[in-house]
Parts: sequence; C-alpha cells; structure tokens
Amino acid sequence: MQRETLPVDVLIVGAGPAGLACAYHLNQMIKRANAQGNGPGEVEIMVIEKARELGAHNLSGAVMDPRSLDELIPDWKAKGCPVERTVEDEGIYYLTESGKFRAPWTPPPMRNHGFPIVSINRLVKWLGEQCEAEEILIATETPGQCLTFDGMRVTGVQTGDKGINKTGDKKNSFEPGSLIEARVTVLTEGTRGSLTKEACNHLHLHGEMPQTYVLGVKEVWELPKSLSTRGKVYHTLGYPLGDLFGGSWIYSMRDNLISIGLVSDLGYTNPYTDPHYNFQKFKQHPWIKELLRGGKLMGYGAKTIPEGGWFSMPRLFADGLLLAGDSAAFLNSQRLKGIHLAMKSGMLAAETIFHSLKKDDTSAATLKLYKEAVEASWIKTELWEVRNFHQAFEGGLIPGMFHVGAQFFSGGRGFKAKMLSPETHTHMRKVRELGLKHRDEVLESRAKEFDRETTFDKLSDVYKSKTLHEEDQPVHLHVADTEVCRTKCREEYGNPCQFFCPASVYEMVADEERGGVKLQINASNCVHCKTCDIMDPYKIITWVPPEGGGGPEYTDL
Ligand code: SF4
Repeated sequence: MQRETLPVDVLIVGAGPAGLACAYHLNQMIKRANAQGNGPGEVEIMVIEKARELGAHNLSGAVMDPRSLDELIPDWKAKGCPVERTVEDEGIYYLTESGKFRAPWTPPPMRNHGFPIVSINRLVKWLGEQCEAEEILIATETPGQCLTFDGMRVTGVQTGDKGINKTGDKKNSFEPGSLIEARVTVLTEGTRGSLTKEACNHLHLHGEMPQTYVLGVKEVWELPKSLSTRGKVYHTLGYPLGDLFGGSWIYSMRDNLISIGLVSDLGYTNPYTDPHYNFQKFKQHPWIKELLRGGKLMGYGAKTIPEGGWFSMPRLFADGLLLAGDSAAFLNSQRLKGIHLAMKSGMLAAETIFHSLKKDDTSAATLKLYKEAVEASWIKTELWEVRNFHQAFEGGLIPGMFHVGAQFFSGGRGFKAKMLSPETHTHMRKVRELGLKHRDEVLESRAKEFDRETTFDKLSDVYKSKTLHEEDQPVHLHVADTEVCRTKCREEYGNPCQFFCPASVYEMVADEERGGVKLQINASNCVHCKTCDIMDPYKIITWVPPEGGGGPEYTDL
C-alpha cells in the first residue's frame, strides 16, 4: 500500500501532560537559542493524539502538585490555566461498612494544602492551546498504529488507517495512515501504551520488574449545593476493599461539582473482583450515600494507573527513541500523583532532544543523557523515596502498613532494599482453588444491587463517559484464541473479563450454532483503560488503538 511519508524532526506520540510539556519546553528552548544565534535552527515538532479533542482521553483525580507547571509556564495562573479549587481542607478517613474514623493527622506525603484541584481534561486542553499558540503542530484523531524501525533504531510511527470495515475491507472513505519519519520519537502514550509495549519488546527495554497496575474508576457528580466553597479533599481507606490495596478520593470542583472515585489494586486473587462494582459498593456507604443525595451523575471514566515505580521503569532511551510520562512509570503511588512527574519527564526529554539536535546525533549514545538527567533531578529523589511502596502491599493491607511504616523511617528502604513484584495478573487464583460460587449467580446478584440513583450498572456509566467509536471497523481488542474463553477460561477463572472490564465490553452469550457460550466483544463501549491487556490470565488479549477519534469524550474527568 502506498503511504504518504511525512518527515519531521521530533515526533511526540500522545498529547497528555508529558507530551505537551515536552513539545512546549523544546519549542521554547529552540526559539530562545535560535534568537541568540546558537540554536539548532528550524525544527519541526509534531504531536499526534488518538482522541477527537485534546484531553478527551485523559483521566485523573486530580490534585496537582504544581511544581512542574511552575517550571514550564511560570505565569500559568495569569495565562488562565483552569483550576477547579485550591485545597484548603483535607482529611483521611478509615471506613467500616457503616462508620468512619478520621485520621488524627495527615501524613506528610499525603498533604495537599495549597495545591490546585484540576480536571485533567481541561488542563490538557489548555496546555494544548499554549502549544498551538506557539504554532506547534498537534494532530488529533491520529493514533500511532506501530513503530517503524531501521534495525534497532526507531525511525518513526505509522499512523492508523481510516475507513476499514468490520471484515477488514476498505470502505469508500478509506484513508491510509501515514509514515511519520522522525529523528527522535517520544512515546508519551499514557498507561500501558501500545507502542511503548512494542518498543519494550522489540528493543528489550523492560525494567527490573514488570509494571504493576491499579484501576481507578471515577465519576463526576453535580450536588444540590456545593460540597465546599473551599477546596476540600477527602481520601479514604478500608471499606469496601477490605484487605485489597486501594482507596477513594472525593474532591470539590467548581460550582457544585465533585470528583469521586475509587482505586482498586489489580493484583487480586479472586477472579470475580470487579473494580467498578467495588466503586458502586463504596457509594452505598451511608456517609457517601448521604453526600450524593439529590445529586446528579455527570460523567464516568476509568483508567489503569502504573504503580510499580522506580524498579519498574523501562530503559528510557534507545536509538531515536525516548519514553516519558505514565508510559515510562513516572508516577508516585504513595502520593497518588503523576501529572507533575509526567510533565517533568517530558521537559527533561525535551532538554535531551535539544542537545541531541544541536549535536546532530540522536543515537542512544546521546539520548542516554535523558536517563542521567532524570537521575539528577527531583524525580529521582521523589521516586526513590517510594521505590518499595506499592510492592509493600503484596501480602495485604496490614503487613503493607508495617512495611510502609518502616519505609517512612528509612528513606524508603523498609525491611528490604529492593522489593520486586511479579506481573499483576499472576496473583489471580482459579475459581475451584478459592471455592467460589458460580459466576452467573454472582453477576446476577450484583446487578440487583444498583439503585440507579446513587449506584449504576456499567452500561449506564459508560453512557456518561460519552464513549463513541465508528461501529463499522475491525474490533480493536484482539483476542488471539476465543476458544480459550469459552472453554478453559470459563472453567478455570470464570471469565474474569466480565468482571474486570469497567465498560461491559466482554460478554459471554449463548452460542446458537455450537451450544454453550461464546465471547461477544462490545468494542464500541471501550473506555481505553487497558485493564484487559493487563489482566487476562492467559495473555491472549491485546489492546490496539481503534480508528482515530474513537473512545471516550471526557470533559470534566
Ligand atoms: Fe478497558 Fe479493555 Fe474494557 Fe476497553 S475492553 S474498557 S481497555 S478493560
């Protein structure tokens, strides 16, 4: 197939905080240096993004540490960066099924006083506007389908085709994806990036331990009256997660809006664990139910969060390639914050690229300076302190607390210098091993619990995510062998995809032809959280980007 070739100097894949910070910072440095006569000359920077609108595929709590934004755009407040509220009041609670206990103090890493509460969708949109004002080229509805290589050197990206039907034939609207050739490609795709996966496998960039994930499920509610005109932040532990690592957040946003969500560890043993259901249970807690009384559900979304930290960080560079943001494990799981680390990693990538362009050498030998810059920056200081944090909860919540206590007093070391976790899905046990009820019985009884006032089934929630995909296109969830789903997986794990997917994409339906059941994939519901790519116990599901523009349309999440 004849594809258009587009040569650029720097290609950034993913217009989130990391990608846009990289583009903006690089552009500023080039402009300044060129004006002084010591720059690299004209440099073409291009950012590609799979969503229809900037910010539409980003999801976060979010209370942002503004440290990186202060460095990137010091006058961000004057430039109208959208802030929902500024944190003035915060508390941590332990929840039992019907009660709550407030922690007498907030541990220093969890303190947010003075930080802005933001909607990441609005923040990214604004960052995009700052880039566009600098004439940086941002192409939306443009997913990176695969990387292109010259031996072990990354030479760019092939973008997704448009106008292919369900059976793989070209429609009248067919447009082939382009080959974007770049001197440096920066992958800032967010959690479990598909190109990052490809790069790590092809170029052997994996970190010391596999990445470990939690899943955040979030809603935005409009309350009858404001939760607080002061920025209010609640975090909770305990109910309904029991021994499972995770917790909730409730943040006051502008007007009467609140951000509410629950993070559940995906390193669970019970294959019927359902993070969406856990979140609905959380909203049945008397305190939360009362808080939401008379309110209206405005938005829904879900996203996996890479929590492995320092030891799960892949090699950050290769010939012609840099990795930044969530794709490269820049997230502090203890503070539950990643925006500032994503932005800073993007900025350090920009500084390395600037140097490499001036030197006219984008080989790994020069790009490795990025790793050195990360090591020398406050990123290392912050992530090193929490290097064993998520791993500490491998044995459950209570032992985890002891580990974390020891880590607190030993600069993050704790009882062991290096704690390494296995791949997240490997914790899952078989139905028979755990003596669980039949999956259909469990699904049916849970469905009866949703009252459609405070608690909702997955489909009602997905509707609020405004998820939309072109219906007539190939399924973007590739299941290598669906026979495994109807036989082995059904028998051994009870089809956990029906539980872990927060958007009801996977359904086991009656097989009219052969009897029994078969897998039905409702791909158009997919909110791009990537849980299935991580959690399927046989590693037969691969998430690939759908046709450009498809996915959720998050606006306040
Ligand atoms: Fe998430 Fe996979 Fe479900 Fe899509 S299909 S919503 S990526 S679990």
